[in-house]
Amino acid sequence: MFFPASQPDGWATHAALLDERGWFPVSIGSFLVRTPERVILVDLGLGTVDFSIPGVADFHGGDLLRALAAEGLSPVDVDTVIYTHLHHDHVGWTTNVAPAPNAREAQRVSGLTFARARHLVSKAEWAHWAGTAELVGPDPVAVQAPLATVIDHIDDGAEVAPGVRILATPGHTPGHSSLQVTDPSGSDPSRVIILGDVMHCQVQVTESSWTFAFDVDPDQGVVTREQLLRKLEDERTVLAGGHFAGNVFGRVLPAIARRVWSSGSVFG
Ligand SMILES: [Zn+2]
Repeated sequence: MFFPASQPDGWATHAALLDERGWFPVSIGSFLVRTPERVILVDLGLGTVDFSIPGVADFHGGDLLRALAAEGLSPVDVDTVIYTHLHHDHVGWTTNVAPAPNAREAQRVSGLTFARARHLVSKAEWAHWAGTAELVGPDPVAVQAPLATVIDHIDDGAEVAPGVRILATPGHTPGHSSLQVTDPSGSDPSRVIILGDVMHCQVQVTESSWTFAFDVDPDQGVVTREQLLRKLEDERTVLAGGHFAGNVFGRVLPAIARRVWSSGSVFG
């Protein structure tokens, strides 16, 4: 159901990406980017939630602060938060409250989790969700209100820190951004592209026309994905797909053409 174009049997040739139940496993989380001066988190995961939508999805969240601690970091060490977009699975740790459909009572929001950090998102993304209360979007009380006075905007091409640059990748949401991370000294030619939700699954590297159920503008999403994939067929580029459960980092190999028969001009 998340990839309507995959029906009825589009997964048949990609079954290795499904789990033993035939379900599509998804990781949800953050990327930590450390430079000599900066500690940057890209996206804030799902937050502390645990709920099921029967027959559709099971959500289990809550590990981000433990994962940071394992890197020797506490929330006050994070100086920059960048949101690729504001869907609920990318903003969950914005405050101490992560709204879940099964929450019995609303908890009190006590403040931002990363209180010292600049919080950045594109202008178009902020404008798209402002004042909305959609289940898939940023909660008005737990996310939008606490960010309203601190959010800064950062748009296409802007450098967040030396070597860390925003790439506008609209479609999944109107102000969606990806991130390019390179060596600021230029001595290492490799780069990492943090995709955000340009792709939700490795299958979209091959099936780039498969749109995702929650794409705000699915057609634009296909155009953006195609353009980006063409630029990324490069062995020095590592892609980081936050939802690519089990193998978040990888490379895109160029398409290998199939053989075709040509009978023209055989005998000159
Ligand atoms: Zn997502």
